Amino acid sequence: MSVIDFNLVSKHLDLSSDAIALLSKSETEIYANLNLKWGGKLIQADTYVVLHCSVRGPFKGGIRMAETVSLEETRRLAQLMTYKCALAKIPFGGGKSGIKINPKSLTPESRRDLINEYVHVLGWAMKNSYIPAPDLGTGPSDMAMIYGCTHAPESVTGKPARIGGLPGRTEATGYGVACNVKMATESVLGRSLDGATVAIQGFGNVGKWTALFLSEWGARVVALSDIDSTAYCESGMTLDKIRSSKTVAEMGYQSINASDVLLLPVDILVPAAVEDVITADIAAKLQAKLIVEAANDPTMNDADLILVERGIPVIPDILANAGGVIASYIEWRQAKSGSLTDKSETYAAIDKQMRPAFNDVIRVASEENISHRLAAQILAVDEVVKSMVDRVWL
Ligand code: NAD
Repeated sequence: MSVIDFNLVSKHLDLSSDAIALLSKSETEIYANLNLKWGGKLIQADTYVVLHCSVRGPFKGGIRMAETVSLEETRRLAQLMTYKCALAKIPFGGGKSGIKINPKSLTPESRRDLINEYVHVLGWAMKNSYIPAPDLGTGPSDMAMIYGCTHAPESVTGKPARIGGLPGRTEATGYGVACNVKMATESVLGRSLDGATVAIQGFGNVGKWTALFLSEWGARVVALSDIDSTAYCESGMTLDKIRSSKTVAEMGYQSINASDVLLLPVDILVPAAVEDVITADIAAKLQAKLIVEAANDPTMNDADLILVERGIPVIPDILANAGGVIASYIEWRQAKSGSLTDKSETYAAIDKQMRPAFNDVIRVASEENISHRLAAQILAVDEVVKSMVDRVWL
């Protein structure tokens, strides 16, 4: 199933049936079973690589490592990458990998061997212009291990800064999400970020950095959650606690029901964990004034309709979390040119690509009187289709 409702997009964009056919299918989908004998035990992981569309550049997209990985999920995530890169005007296409295993079941050494096996079995997809990066369950160290196999710094992004990575890449997605929260608070809610209340679901790479930037910029992060715990603090969590804690439980704040994090009467809700968490039931009950999707695909289709009906603005994933892929592009360019980039240049690059994309989405949503998600989809599909015309695919 496509992440785009082409019937809806077609009402605002002249889309040929050939364009829809090209966008509805992945260029390549690969399944592999990664096998590893470790400590006398067999480890097996179903693994998918989906290469959705390369019309605008190499296939770009992270490697997800989770027990819930499936082909359908990997396919949706690869499609989102195509549209995310197009909306941010980054010359990359869309791809994604999923390794179906619980990362907590791996030791550092068995994890290293699994990543080596991933490159051994699927490296040919990377030679065929797939460039991985971190996603849920993977991080810079995994990307360093991939680089250790390929010996090509441009073959993978999200590497640690000391191994050819980009200063600022680790926090890039959270930085971009925080920028979107700030811009949307000002232009959509019509107020300043100062003192605005925020609830964030997820305290991994994206959730934690989003919380840090928003607190630094004056917002009040009142609720946080991870897979194991929740934390609530009406006066706003301290920067120090957010920075120094690895888990939400460690923060030592009052705990609330996990689903309540999504339902609190806050100014801004940021889902930054996994997909499909905003169900129709949650959408009907949530009290946030604005939702900024840091996670990929966190809102179910029926829930989205309810949010539109209720007039609750949603800054969609393909806009909100594009900071990571923008930084990945800068890292890839740095690897190809041999130049060095500093953190302020990474942040400046995100601002430079993100702000016009945000302004375009706000403008189209207002001109056409449609949701921000539909506006973002129209702009992204238009960009991809125009690229197809450039390359005489259409
Ligand atoms: P991560 O593995 O670093 O962290 C995920 C966090 O979510 C953890 O704190 C985990 O405990 C929590 N979590 C998982 N299930 C949960 C649940 N049901 N309820 C509450 N918390 C839960 O992952 P990440 O890299 O931060 O990615 C988070 C989301 O952001 C994903 O949807 C990912 O696709 C998206 N994303 C990540 C990047 C990136 O650069 N890492 C870029 C773009 C989008």
